[in-house]
Amino acid sequence: MESIGRNDPCWCGSGKKYKKCHLDRENQTPVTLNEIEQVRKKGGSWQKCLHPEAGSKCDKVVRAHSVQRQGGLSRIAREGHVYQLEHRFPKILQNKGTPSLGLVGIKEATTFTGMCGFHDNETFMPIESGAVSFTPEQCFLFAYRSLCKEVYAKQAIRGNTELFRELDKGQPKEVQAAIQRIATWRNTGYAEGVAELETVKSEYDRILLESNGYVDLRYYAVELDRTPEIMCSGFGSPETDFDGNRIQHLADLEPIQNISFSLISNVEHVSNEDAGAGVFAWLGEQPAMECLMRSFHGIPDAEKPAALVRYVFGGHENFAISPEWYDARTAEEQQAIKQRILSGASWEYPQHDFTDDGHRTVDWQVKAVHISKSLEACLVGS
Ligand SMILES: [Zn+2]
Ligand SMILES: [Zn+2]
Repeated sequence: MESIGRNDPCWCGSGKKYKKCHLDRENQTPVTLNEIEQVRKKGGSWQKCLHPEAGSKCDKVVRAHSVQRQGGLSRIAREGHVYQLEHRFPKILQNKGTPSLGLVGIKEATTFTGMCGFHDNETFMPIESGAVSFTPEQCFLFAYRSLCKEVYAKQAIRGNTELFRELDKGQPKEVQAAIQRIATWRNTGYAEGVAELETVKSEYDRILLESNGYVDLRYYAVELDRTPEIMCSGFGSPETDFDGNRIQHLADLEPIQNISFSLISNVEHVSNEDAGAGVFAWLGEQPAMECLMRSFHGIPDAEKPAALVRYVFGGHENFAISPEWYDARTAEEQQAIKQRILSGASWEYPQHDFTDDGHRTVDWQVKAVHISKSLEACLVGS
């Protein structure tokens, strides 16, 4: 760093001259918490209806829940709050970019402003109006909702990257370097991710409108005997299976293979009978995802709940946790959870890990498994 000339491009990659960027940054006035909060709100204020028929029918964009609130988050909340991955900038800065957990109210937790009230209601009615029975339509809608949340998250990131780069004012050099690395990771991830995701979403949009019997849908739904203390709605590209074998390389030029995952409460509204479910789903031929599900399918039913827990923390950012459950974990168990979150959600080097660490932190029982016909054929003979 010392050898950079005043007029050279800055080391941080901003494209500005060093003298106009990081020269003497450790002595500049730090960005205030108030300014930081403004940045976060600005990013979070991205609002748009992502429904493919968005237009004249749209009403106001709402805070749509990616995990249901009534009968879902409300069942695992403590005084109206759940743990979520911390995304408030002051906390991220405090932790130097290391992911941590924070309490969030259930009106806010897992929400996104990516759909108008009309389309949110109309689209997700079949998975919001009572216990689901894992029809192809319902499994598709879980996947679609996870995908919309992911599109929203990428868009919200775009809104605040420039100001994110200013967060290192007045900080020592090593913190500057860390923050700029995070910013670059966010930028790159955004540019690559959004292009991929738009292609994927157009395919999902087509199926949403066509309702052709969902022939392209592959799903694997695990019915649980109770509401899981951890809920999740995620859309991602795992690189390894449950045995730790590599199933795809994100750096390859091959198209990235995607899968959605929802871990939900499935309480019957009338009888109030407790239940839950984990639903994996994707569209079309995706051999890497078949590998992933083959490794999951091979896990004995009694061990599948623990594998679902590992899958949430090892590869997802959009989850909510029962504070009562988490606080009752031993220090060692909490450490293991944090370690997995850290590797999966790291700003810099996400590294998925779903392999068994021996921890058994939930009492859920598998009641039944529902597999799409097309996927069933791939699992047989494995
Ligand atoms: Zn710079
Ligand atoms: Zn709309």
